[in-house]
Amino acid sequence: MLSSHGRRAAALAGGLALALSAGLVACAPEATVPTPSPADTAAPTATPTPEPTPLVPEFDPSAHSIDDPTSIWVVSNKLRPLTPVDFAPEDLVMPEGVENEFSQPLREAAARAAEQFVGAAAVAGQQVRIISAYRDYDTQVSLYDGYVARDGQDAADTYSARPGHSEHQTGLVIDLDDHGDCYLAACFGETPAGSWLALHAFEYGFIVRYPAGKEDVTGFMPEPWHFRYVGAELAAEMRDRRITTLEEFFELPPAPGYAQ
Ligand SMILES: [Zn+2]
Repeated sequence: MLSSHGRRAAALAGGLALALSAGLVACAPEATVPTPSPADTAAPTATPTPEPTPLVPEFDPSAHSIDDPTSIWVVSNKLRPLTPVDFAPEDLVMPEGVENEFSQPLREAAARAAEQFVGAAAVAGQQVRIISAYRDYDTQVSLYDGYVARDGQDAADTYSARPGHSEHQTGLVIDLDDHGDCYLAACFGETPAGSWLALHAFEYGFIVRYPAGKEDVTGFMPEPWHFRYVGAELAAEMRDRRITTLEEFFELPPAPGYAQ
């Protein structure tokens, strides 16, 4: 059984042999055109070309869990609370060499990736800092309760996750800022820093988790400052396939609001 490459090679070889024997190769230099011998016109017994080894291993969509809160692919949204709701990661470390407004830690892999990401931004002329990273369950309780008291629950739900539903509780998220006027604001995406970060995030294993135009899928207004670590493989795969949300990538139902 010939591989598709093998069949193509055989077809090409056969076509070339026919073209040569019929004198159809007009532009071939005289000296190098071999005189066709009967052997050339016989059905070529092409050696199947071995399939080339892919440079990048094929993407495995089941490589990590989307349910386990310790998984770098965990999908947390308004319909998918972390289980348990007060989950806390065990490998929190402080990112090094990065300005970190509230000195919040990250899971180790995310911390190392954040160092690379922020470092690369600086090399590209974009000085950014972390303004939020890991927040534990109790912190989210007080944040959310404060927002509800100030703006009411409906409004709070559009911009703050309920406790147990916040990606920050996974230890895989950084909010970034450029010391400019768009601190936690939609306009951050239009700044040179925000644009650079959105363009290059995938190279460091991050995605813009709440992109513009996907509010009905993610349940959140656009947050161009909020970068979720998913690892370089998934980030690159999402980019290649032009899928911008974890919900769509993993074919999960949209999560525009809480179940109750
Ligand atoms: Zn955030």
